[in-house]
Amino acid sequence: MRIIKHPASLKSILDKKCLKGSTVGFVPTMGALHEGHLSLVRASLNANHLTVVSIFVNPLQFNDATDLEKYPVTIEKDILLLSEAGTDILFLPGYSDVYPEENPVARAHYDLGSLESVFEGKYRPGHFQGVCAVVDRLLSIVAPTDLYLGQKDFQQVAVLRKMIQLKNHNTKIVVCPIVREQNGLAMSSRNARLSPAGKEKAGEIYQCLKIIKEKATQEPFETLKALVIHRLSENDIKTEYLALADTLTLEEVHSFDTNRHLIILIAAIIESVRLIDNMPLQ
Ligand code: AMP
Repeated sequence: MRIIKHPASLKSILDKKCLKGSTVGFVPTMGALHEGHLSLVRASLNANHLTVVSIFVNPLQFNDATDLEKYPVTIEKDILLLSEAGTDILFLPGYSDVYPEENPVARAHYDLGSLESVFEGKYRPGHFQGVCAVVDRLLSIVAPTDLYLGQKDFQQVAVLRKMIQLKNHNTKIVVCPIVREQNGLAMSSRNARLSPAGKEKAGEIYQCLKIIKEKATQEPFETLKALVIHRLSENDIKTEYLALADTLTLEEVHSFDTNRHLIILIAAIIESVRLIDNMPLQ
């Protein structure tokens, strides 16, 4: 595995490979890698000549300074995991490589419409502009054939689809399924901040999503929502939002509708750690 820090060096390597017809799969991450990230890497390795993984903790997408401060950094372990998985190139840019412009006001604004005012966008103002800024820049450096993203960040996938369209990036999004712990908890770098007991309790989030899905034909959504929020609170989990949305538009709906593709979205806080998860109804 080659570790590259400078965009120009990476570009020149990739340009040569692409001229020879190599396809490039790209997995952007913020490090503190786990099996969820590695599943994306493996999917890319299986489908491309070359796989590039980036690790960059993007300050622009943190609306909460404490969250950024406490974001786990495990770079030595990450390098080992990526190398063992067979990654071709690890891109480790610094802040000024990603954001070379000195004036932040000069940075692009992405017209994401309602996608950035609902759910994650509502609770994390500015978050998706930050996500778009970093991925836009990384895509212009890596210019991958395929971009690998996790279903775990469902709204992020929709936002990046929009950004790619707005900026005319010539890349295809591949969405990979959520990888979970044995108790159902969606793997996340933030799980490292949970105590063993908290991690166990956090498995309730997945159980609750399953309950809603299983009972969707028997009870109204609002009844199930109230039941589940209560069950989570009994496990010291505070629900920030729990909603039903159209999978394509992310428009919120308040009742089950078998004529539409719907998804249950949740954000919840346990031991001061904010976790998100989702489950499509079909
Ligand atoms: P992050 O490092 O949190 O920015 O995540 C990098 C990529 O890994 C994103 O596309 C995430 O959606 C994806 N990812 C994170 N957790 C999981 C998981 N449990 N299963 C599948 N993909 C994941």
